[in-house]
Amino acid sequence: MVDLLAGHAEVAAEVEEGFARVLATGAFIKGPDVAAFEAEFAAFSGTAHCVGVANGTDALELALRAAEMPAGAGVVMPANTFVASAEAVVRAGGRPVFADVDDEFLLLDPERAAESRGDAWGLLPVHLNGQLAPMAPLAALAAETGLRLFEDAAQCQGATQDGRGAGSWGLAAGTSFYPGKNLGAYGDGGAVLTNDAEIDRLVRELGDHGSSRKYVHDRLGFNSRLDTLQAVVLRAKLRRLADWNAARRAAAARYDALLADFEDVRLPRTAPGNVHVWHLYAVRVPRRDEVLAELNAAGIGAGIHYPVPVHLQPAFRELGHRPGDFPVAERAAAEILTLPLFPQITEEQQVRVAEALGKALARAGASGSGA
Ligand SMILES: *Cc1c(COP(=O)(O)O)cnc(C)c1O
Repeated sequence: MVDLLAGHAEVAAEVEEGFARVLATGAFIKGPDVAAFEAEFAAFSGTAHCVGVANGTDALELALRAAEMPAGAGVVMPANTFVASAEAVVRAGGRPVFADVDDEFLLLDPERAAESRGDAWGLLPVHLNGQLAPMAPLAALAAETGLRLFEDAAQCQGATQDGRGAGSWGLAAGTSFYPGKNLGAYGDGGAVLTNDAEIDRLVRELGDHGSSRKYVHDRLGFNSRLDTLQAVVLRAKLRRLADWNAARRAAAARYDALLADFEDVRLPRTAPGNVHVWHLYAVRVPRRDEVLAELNAAGIGAGIHYPVPVHLQPAFRELGHRPGDFPVAERAAAEILTLPLFPQITEEQQVRVAEALGKALARAGASGSGA
């Protein structure tokens, strides 16, 4: 699905040189590369501030805590997301309030978010698969209703909507540098992006044992910091990210062309105003599980993101949801199929994927290539 070593080959020399520099100083935590990366990633993202933290889930939790979310507060989010979006809300002391997505882009639907809202305190759209949720209507909803707006930006480094990236639409965004993300570390990492100086300050404090000055702990916090060695990797990769995202867009366009004649395959689309960074290229097909098994048997690293919508995960059983609560998200979960895509994927590899998908659809009894 993702060839992480192909990405490493492009930055290997810089990373090794940077690691040698860090090893010579021994500044493994809060070294100068962390501050430099924070400044560079904030500039890249178009936000005033960036705080490196230990992972993306922590980033979301710390953003909510820094905004002083009240205990038990509801946070509206889409039903189809990675479990971490909802997990972060619970860990911060809140309660996920799920809402359905639109059928075309599978992004949080502002009207459904408004319907699900109840007495919720926050709004957490997820920028799924590499494109932003419809932020203008979501920001308008937040402004009208007093919902605090956050963003799950784990899958969208470099994506914009109407020229604006994640992290500047509301109070704060959390992003992840898990190795498979568009900007991936060599281990775990994450960041909070914000234009709010007070959120920046509080995330730093909370992520460093609640400490604003050495030996002074103003509140109880956590240990959630970005390692200096990971900052070295991220700085080297950030310099290539715009090019890598462009390569992902080219690869997505190639899939669009290769699969255009496949009956029964619904291609992913870019929502209006969005520059998509194609974290994942997810088509929708009938008999998905059989098609996936055929593809995997043919040696194609296809997958599903995500097979079970969050509201039906056993971990959230206490919220009392049942099948049918969010029909668009549930139908999508049964149909989506993620095809391999990474910046270095070759045309030959994509042709192989398309051919294997045609055969897999035919064998699964769905109609494959229109040829
Ligand atoms: C990866 C991801 C996260 C969490 O990131 P971690 O770094 O693994 O904690 C949160 N939300 C979404 C949508 C993600 O894809």
